[in-house]
Amino acid sequence: MTKTTEMRRCIGSKTFGIEPHEAPTSDFPAQLSQKDGLGRMCKPHWRQYTNALRKAALARKAAQADAPPAEPEPAADPEARAPRRATATTKRERRRTPMAHLPTATEEVGQTIRDVLAE
Ligand SMILES: [Zn+2]
Repeated sequence: MTKTTEMRRCIGSKTFGIEPHEAPTSDFPAQLSQKDGLGRMCKPHWRQYTNALRKAALARKAAQADAPPAEPEPAADPEARAPRRATATTKRERRRTPMAHLPTATEEVGQTIRDVLAE
């Protein structure tokens, strides 16, 4: 007739700041995928954990929606390329300055850069 309260380890989640601790098995949700049919976290923490997971997934989706990697919109394209183009221009101008007395060479260099950029 001795029914001691069985304790079970709630694993918590480092990712979401849930401390592991011991809790009565009655505090654990049934989870058939587990060997003993009980979840690895107590009910309140499991709820907290799944909520945090859902929020993280939503945040990830929102971040992807903000910056779609595979669909370059025509309007966003020039903005995305502007910094790169500015850097290239700066470099080209810096290189061009000492060659200012060689207009032909500068022309060739300019043409080469245009060809490279066009590819
Ligand atoms: Zn817990």
